[in-house]
Order: sequence, then C-alpha cells, then structure tokens
Amino acid sequence: DPDLSSLEVITLFGKYELGKLLGYGAFAKVYHARNLLTGQSVAIKAVSKRKIVKGGLAENIKREISIMRRLHHPHTVKLFEVLATKSKIFFVMELAKGGELFAKIANGRFSEDLSRRYFQQLISAVGYCHSRGVFHRDLKPENLLLDENWNLKVSDFGLSAVNDQVQPDGMLHTLCGTPAYVAPEILSKKGYDGKKADVWSCGVILYVLNAGYLPFSDPNLMVMYRKINRGDFRYPKWTSPDLRRFISRLLDPNPETRITVDEIVRDPWFKKGYKEVEFQV
Ligand code: ADP
Ligand code: MG
Repeated sequence: DPDLSSLEVITLFGKYELGKLLGYGAFAKVYHARNLLTGQSVAIKAVSKRKIVKGGLAENIKREISIMRRLHHPHTVKLFEVLATKSKIFFVMELAKGGELFAKIANGRFSEDLSRRYFQQLISAVGYCHSRGVFHRDLKPENLLLDENWNLKVSDFGLSAVNDQVQPDGMLHTLCGTPAYVAPEILSKKGYDGKKADVWSCGVILYVLNAGYLPFSDPNLMVMYRKINRGDFRYPKWTSPDLRRFISRLLDPNPETRITVDEIVRDPWFKKGYKEVEFQV
C-alpha cells in the first residue's frame, strides 16, 4: 500500500479530500479530510484489512463500528460513516481539532480547576457509555481528544466491550488496556466489572492532569504492577486535601469499595465550580 501521508491530495470515493496525518495507533492512521460536497472538515481513520486479519481483530473492528454508531454524546467522538476498499476500512469521524489531551499535559500539568473541568467532561461521557452498555477499557490521555473549543471528546473504542460480552459470572475476562492506566483487577485476570475498571482509568487520568506525571510508573513492568495492585502512589505537594480524598476513592485497588460513577457525580470536589470554572488553555 502506498503511504497515504506521502501524497499531497488523495480523493476518497470522490467524496473526501484527504489531508495531513493527524495521528496513528497500532493498527490505524488518522487523517484530516474535507467533505467535498459540504466543505465539512472530518477525521478519517484508515485501517488496513490485512493487518486486522493478521492480528485476529476482525471482530474488534466490527464491534468498534457498532459501538461508535450507538454513541451520541457531546463528549464522545461521532462516527459519520464507514467506507471500505478492497484493502482498507475508513471510519469517517467528527474531527477533534485540538488534538490529544496528552499533548497538552506534556506542556505541563493543569490547575485543579482545569483538571476538574476535563474530568467532569470525561465522567459525563463515561457515565453515558456505561448507561448504553459500553465499557471503554482503554481510557488514557492519548484517547481523549479536544475540539476547537477545548471540549473533551472520548475516542478510540477499539478495545471497548459491550454488555453482551459479560460472562455468566457477571464479569469481563479480556486482558486489555494500557499498563499504566489498567485497573488491578484486570491484572489479576480473575474477571472484572467493566464500569469499575473504567473508573480506575479515570482516576489515573485525573492524577496525571493534576500532577503532570503518572501515579504508577517504573521501568520494570512487574514493579509497576505491584504498585498498581497495592494502590501504592504519592500525591504531589500541590494537590489539595479534597482532591487527595477524591483521588483515593478512584484509585482504590478494591473494585468492591471503589467509588462508582453515581457517587462521583455527587462528590463535593467533583461538583465544585461546575458552572463557574473559567476555561483557559
Ligand atoms: P488506534 O486504535 O490505532 O489507537 P486511534 O483511534 O486512537 O487509533 O487514533 C490514533 C490517533 O489519531 C489518536 O491518538 C489521535 O491523535 C488521532 N485521532 C483519532 N481520531 C481523531 C479525531 N476524530 N480527530 C482528530 N484526531 C484523531
Ligand atoms: Mg488509540
């Protein structure tokens, strides 16, 4: 396959003009594109069918499409249509012009108010997904995108699960996610509740927003896993007592006692300044 990014302009199905590469993941390249009929800017995720089949991921792609189709929320990336050629599948999606939240954190940590604002938007999207029977399972700043108004958009449902994957024991059993963001019960391989696991990842994200670095990290993966299992982390000196208390409820290694989304939205730290927060980047 020719590398699409090396070509100036490619027209897809006479309908979209492909522009610059926005980002890529393990199986996908994402391009800026313009709808030639409407002039609307979109993002097009191109996935190679050969790679999907090789990786045994045909079911995952079908699931990603069906999940994205059922999500309609201001803080989840919308899927407009799916196109395919012999060799590729193209997801035509809502464009998140502001790029990855990850890139913003790389420039320095956020104030507590700004961390709260992003976290509120994240939780509103995650709570919505859960209510639709969708568990994201790969929540991390690389998969949180920003639109032109710096509003958060949850994307990349490539590892997501749906209710019908829940086993008779009420649990999910697929080991997935990104090590630094993965919940201890996923590591223990005994089956896990997809909602609780997403809440843990949200806790890691909130910590990263406020601290500017990961709560659990170590060059040795086994050491990092041990820290995750024990919920062994420290707060930066600037984290307020209220936020410490709140994060400790999210990063509770025991999924049974960990805070739920319903409890999160009632938490005083979470609710504070919901309307008043002035947004700056
Ligand atoms: P993968 O499943 O391979 O991880 P993603 O869906 O996460 O692929 O996309 C890879 C990257 O492409 C993202 O991290 C982001 O930088 C960029 N990207 C994905 N979707 C969009 C979008 N809708 N708008 C802008 N950039 C996007
Ligand atoms: Mg991704």
